[in-house]
Amino acid sequence: MSLAGGREHVAIPGPSVIPDRVLAAMHRSMPDIYGDELLAVSDEIYVELPRIAGMHDGRVFVTISNGHGAWEMAISNTLSRGDKVLVLESGRFAVTWGEMAAFSGVKTEVLHAPERRPVDPLAVEARLRADITREIKAIFVLYTDTASSVMNDIPAIRRAIDAAVHPALLMVDCIASMGAERYEMDAWGVDLTLAASQKALMVPPGLGFVWAGPRALAAHRHADLRTGYFDWTARTLDGPHYLRYGGTMPVAHLYGLREALTMIRTEGLANVWARHAALSSKPTRSMCGCRCVKSML
Ligand SMILES: *Cc1c(COP(=O)(O)O)cnc(C)c1O
Repeated sequence: MSLAGGREHVAIPGPSVIPDRVLAAMHRSMPDIYGDELLAVSDEIYVELPRIAGMHDGRVFVTISNGHGAWEMAISNTLSRGDKVLVLESGRFAVTWGEMAAFSGVKTEVLHAPERRPVDPLAVEARLRADITREIKAIFVLYTDTASSVMNDIPAIRRAIDAAVHPALLMVDCIASMGAERYEMDAWGVDLTLAASQKALMVPPGLGFVWAGPRALAAHRHADLRTGYFDWTARTLDGPHYLRYGGTMPVAHLYGLREALTMIRTEGLANVWARHAALSSKPTRSMCGCRCVKSML
């Protein structure tokens, strides 16, 4: 006898359970990629994505990749060989992002948080004050570190940077939290945010997102790690539509993403956050203790 029945639900942070509406939106024949229909879907996505991150001033970029691709897009567009990054560790994922930067010739320094504890803003402030030559160009931090389920206080880290009067870019990985936890990129003074499709954004794996604020866009102008495929300048909104995606668009994913973003807009972002908060406070948490439990089926 088997007790298994119905749809399989895997309670891990991602890929998460995809709502039927999103699956249904993806199940279609391929339209003309040069036609107006797909352009309208894409335009809608480029309007909605800044809203869900609380970014009003800046640009959003979509990569055809997982979150690791978004990490690489962030690194290659803002940093140069020999730059130094301060990695605020609160679990495994921040370290892996830092290792990717090191692979590209960026110097990294890891500031360790106590085991399974959030990053201490005072330690960040002290380290930045000690950086007399302003060698540190960027700070990597995770909003939710999925490996430890720790959540970091991003506004407090911003205040620490400001208290040290340090110019480093604040870059935040929201892969596990975008669409689940309150997040206000502009209001919190974040320079660059990234996410991926397969967690609280309810779309299958395959899309990465990078939100770049004015200071990240300014750093882009002199970054020497830029590569042709990920380059922000090449991904212009003015030219042919396919340039936004560096080539043929991931058509089915775009239809799915448009549907997921419509669901979020219809429910109301604040209501989505409140729902996740309510569900994550129940004893039935997912296996790893993460907070991206969903009930939008
Ligand atoms: C899942 C996750 C990643 C890795 O995403 P991939 O899509 O597997 O590359 C990175 N950071 C966080 C916080 C995550 O939860």
